[in-house]
Amino acid sequence: RIDSRVKLADGNQMPIQGLGVYKMTDEAQLIQSVKSAYDDGYRLFDTAQMYGNEAAVGKAIKELNVNRDDVFITTKIAEENQGYDQVMASFETSLKKLQLDYVDLLLVHWPIHTHFFETWRAFEKLKEQGLVKSIGTSNYGMLHLQYLATKANEMPVVNQLEVHPYLAQPAMIDFNRENQIVTQAWAPLGRGKAFDDPVLVKLAKAHGKSAAQVILRWHLQRGDAFIPKSVHPQRIKQNADIYDFELSADEMKQVDDLNRNTRLSQEPEMVY
Ligand code: NAD
Repeated sequence: RIDSRVKLADGNQMPIQGLGVYKMTDEAQLIQSVKSAYDDGYRLFDTAQMYGNEAAVGKAIKELNVNRDDVFITTKIAEENQGYDQVMASFETSLKKLQLDYVDLLLVHWPIHTHFFETWRAFEKLKEQGLVKSIGTSNYGMLHLQYLATKANEMPVVNQLEVHPYLAQPAMIDFNRENQIVTQAWAPLGRGKAFDDPVLVKLAKAHGKSAAQVILRWHLQRGDAFIPKSVHPQRIKQNADIYDFELSADEMKQVDDLNRNTRLSQEPEMVY
């Protein structure tokens, strides 16, 4: 079901599916998209300081007028706000914009080598203060996580990564899993680049679904959490309608085999 949750290593639960709001800069459109998604059963909303729309997300949540624990809000600390004091100060601003007392999940948006440990120390502090329920990373590779582990008191419980059929990241996802870190796929639809792929077109036809739905079902069955973005109510609804069909083991393998290790974004910087 759309509101199914996964248990995180810190004991909290996170909805497996959510709505990404990257590039939603029009406030009215964002509010309408969040409401539409909520009506379809979405409970997780993924924003970031960098997206410039935390205030709009705050408004949307307020207008939903639901219990705070009925929604799960993720935000991310921007690169320029890394460092202990900068994280603490910028997070306070984020909370104000979101009109919240706490966020459910706070992520380091990208790994950078300056302030690497100080940033994480601030994350641990915010969790201790109850201002953040769970702490995680985004775009961290194995070396980043191994390096973090040398000093962290608590490890990230989520690592949000670019994952889609053309960048399946099996080794990285295994590594996350071995370290009790849930992989949350960003650009889970690969921003539409594989929708015309003959394999996906064929599978979509066989199941009476769209290529987007086949891709999201693949994420679900391989154990990823995922946060597709759309501003179109019909697509938001369609992306949630993936719980009434199943890909066979052979069909899963056909999608796995589409992996070509191509990124939409830059390769995360190495720690040095
Ligand atoms: P996505 O893979 O979710 O693709 C979104 C695009 O696919 C939409 O703009 C729309 O054009 C199309 N689409 C969506 N549903 C469709 C459907 N059913 N039929 C046809 N087309 C459809 O890409 P994304 O927005 O880049 O990623 C999703 C979310 O991940 C973002 O909104 C953001 O919250 C997060 N994200 C995080 C990072 C990070 O560094 N942590 C980076 C990028 C995105």
